[in-house]
Amino acid sequence: MYDVIVIGGGSAGLMACVAAAEHGASVLLLDKGDQLGRKLGISGGGRCNVTNAKETDELIRHIPGNGRFLYSSFQNLDNQGIMRFFENLGIALKEEDNGRMFPVTDKAKTVVDALVGKIVSLGVEIRTKEPVKELIQNGQHVQGVKLLSGKTILGRSVIIATGGKSVPQTGSTGDGYPWAEAAGHTITELYPTEVPIVSGESWIQSKELQGLSLRDIGLSVLDAKGKTVISHRGI
Ligand SMILES: Cc1cc2nc3c(=O)[nH]c(=O)nc-3n(C[C@H](O)[C@H](O)[C@H](O)COP(=O)(O)OP(=O)(O)OC[C@H]3O[C@@H](n4cnc5c(N)ncnc54)[C@H](O)[C@@H]3O)c2cc1C
Repeated sequence: MYDVIVIGGGSAGLMACVAAAEHGASVLLLDKGDQLGRKLGISGGGRCNVTNAKETDELIRHIPGNGRFLYSSFQNLDNQGIMRFFENLGIALKEEDNGRMFPVTDKAKTVVDALVGKIVSLGVEIRTKEPVKELIQNGQHVQGVKLLSGKTILGRSVIIATGGKSVPQTGSTGDGYPWAEAAGHTITELYPTEVPIVSGESWIQSKELQGLSLRDIGLSVLDAKGKTVISHRGI
């Protein structure tokens, strides 16, 4: 019987393992892929934008919808805490435009390797190629997990960190949503973010800009009358 079973070894699952193991819990990490942190490895164009150096209030202003719910999370671990965390793992960080923080190596792999190294050093048991099928529940009380192989593993707590639905080839196929719902959580409607902008403009459709990469770009969305609905400037 483990104190904590973490399902999913992406950024959330790896951080959950660190937090649980640092508090003395016996931790088992299960991932269905053959390697941990695959999406993390392609994040930030392969360089991993680990956090942003700007003030908390400014970060929250840029969260779509009501970002104020993040204040309580930031109380526990804010951007400065994240920077200290990675620097304590031996990862030197550098600040780029708009406060974006990257590893000096410019390699997301540095971040993945440091996180995996940290959980190994904390004694977390890691099992890859081990897809979880469902949670074992007694009413709404979660008692462990059932693997696709048919085996069961018991745990006092189970953390679902199976990711969203984007880039499913990295392993995140949305498996955790029905489990969380069955355990009594509310799942809001899912929708994609950071998606490509589709335009019918002839100078876009002709693909004459294809392959061009520009810095410091302003983008405005106009309504049918040509009035600006929203503008954004950045990289
Ligand atoms: C192209 C791209 C660039 C990005 N760039 C940045 C960036 O620069 N900075 C930033 O902060 N964020 C960035 N993000 C977002 C960031 O990568 C994600 O928010 C983050 O990876 C989510 O972590 P996660 O742990 O929730 O899920 P994931 O990283 O998706 O991990 C989920 C894990 O769960 C495992 N899993 C799923 N189902 C099961 C199952 N049934 N049994 C066992 N294991 C299972 C998967 O194999 C996977 O390893 C980027 C995302 C993309 C796609």
